[in-house]
Amino acid sequence: MNRRVLIVGGGWAGLAAAVRASERGCRVTLLEAARVWGGRARALEPTPSPDCPPDLPMPLDNGQHILIGAYTQTLGLLQRLGLYLPDHLHAMPLDLRFADGSGLATPDWAQRWPAPLDTVAAIACARGWSGRDRAALLMAAVRWRMRGFACLPSESVADLCAGLPQRVWQDFIEPLCVAALNTPAQQASAQVFLTVLRDALLGAGHPPWRASQLLLPRTCLGDMLPLAALRWLTHQGAELHLGQRALGLERSATNGPWRLHSASAAYEADRVILACPATEAARLLRTLPEAPAQWIAQAAALQHTAIGTVYVAGWLRQPWPSAHPMLALRSSGSASPAQFAFRRDWLQAGRAAATPAETGGAWAELALVASACDTDKATLQAAVLDQARQALGLHGERVQQTVIEKRATFACTPGLQRPSAAIAPGLWAAGDYLHGPYPATLEAAVRSGLQAAEHCAAA
Ligand SMILES: Cc1cc2nc3c(=O)[nH]c(=O)nc-3n(C[C@H](O)[C@H](O)[C@H](O)COP(=O)(O)OP(=O)(O)OC[C@H]3O[C@@H](n4cnc5c(N)ncnc54)[C@H](O)[C@@H]3O)c2cc1C
Repeated sequence: MNRRVLIVGGGWAGLAAAVRASERGCRVTLLEAARVWGGRARALEPTPSPDCPPDLPMPLDNGQHILIGAYTQTLGLLQRLGLYLPDHLHAMPLDLRFADGSGLATPDWAQRWPAPLDTVAAIACARGWSGRDRAALLMAAVRWRMRGFACLPSESVADLCAGLPQRVWQDFIEPLCVAALNTPAQQASAQVFLTVLRDALLGAGHPPWRASQLLLPRTCLGDMLPLAALRWLTHQGAELHLGQRALGLERSATNGPWRLHSASAAYEADRVILACPATEAARLLRTLPEAPAQWIAQAAALQHTAIGTVYVAGWLRQPWPSAHPMLALRSSGSASPAQFAFRRDWLQAGRAAATPAETGGAWAELALVASACDTDKATLQAAVLDQARQALGLHGERVQQTVIEKRATFACTPGLQRPSAAIAPGLWAAGDYLHGPYPATLEAAVRSGLQAAEHCAAA
């Protein structure tokens, strides 16, 4: 008889695990506590603010997400599930320029150069940087590469980059670190940052994309992995339950089946994957007679960082200052908390550049993102709008929605001990917070889900 695998949590880790377990011939049951699939990467149910037009063109997500070409497992999975990726993702070269045009971007003529020459060209041509700034970053990059992108576990990104000129720090290190690790550079793990740099700048990308290319969702996140996986799982006969929160877990005998219950149902399985957040997994594990104390302690010790996204539509006084739908914003503390702005109207329309009509300014739909944010919704929204007025000439705006995800990711700090995927015989965890080389990302979540399912199918 086919092995029964029960998966708790329908975020990207749980969905990936369900697909892989099903591919490996297991009978899959997937439980999700919420009313929608997707977890921290999901489409929002439509609750826009009263002054926003009722015919919003594209459903909002719980936060703007960026994928990169190096997300090979995520992109491969989406493709296997039948998604035509260019319909869902807008690809652009690495471009971290600000509204005044300064900053680092791969020049057009170097976009087909092999890595790392494309990055060398980007650094050599960084606008607004002095020769000393460029040389300092190039030398640092050479040093990091010669050391195999490894450093002491206790080092922070600030330690790693001590001595780099202020311009390099402000225009490159800080925005990249907070975007990738959702942790301020002063507190972020240098080792994880180096791993991200290595894989994004030198690693393999998912064809036809290069690892460093930025991939911006053109459809809502719910139409990506959640919809594709659910269609596929339904076709495979998997049992899918929304609104079912797992409340307790037990095992009758050492090698007997696992039993799990929600408020209204009980489930039995040969293998269980806990693909819910760390705190929730730890809560379920505490219900076991032999609770794995070390796992629970590591899960409980994780700190979390918020991400705020202000969705707004309005007029831009001046033309959008980039050829791409993403722009870096000068960020400083709670007064200017957003680091990036995204043109949602361009993404949705599949446009890569301004039309001639837009050269004097235009109506725009923006997602303004404040990573590692630590303020309340009203304060964040007011500060971000002010920032957009100054940086982009935004006026006559209507806020569509402001979302703060308080526990968006774990704080990726130096030397952090993250829980392992293996919990007990027949019991695995999946999720972006588990032990591994990457920060909390879609790719980390998908990889962990695929791996947990492989273990369940094999063990
Ligand atoms: C605003 C925001 C912006 C982000 N931006 C990016 C980005 O640009 N790029 C990137 O790569 N990553 C980004 N991330 C991170 C990315 O979204 C996460 O790493 C990823 O979604 C985590 O997936 P997961 O499956 O591990 O966890 P989750 O998405 O948290 O899934 C866990 C699921 O378990 C369910 N659950 C909880 N308890 C129970 C229970 N008892 N029973 C049943 N179900 C339960 C939850 O409802 C949830 O659906 C962002 C995250 C946020 C919040």
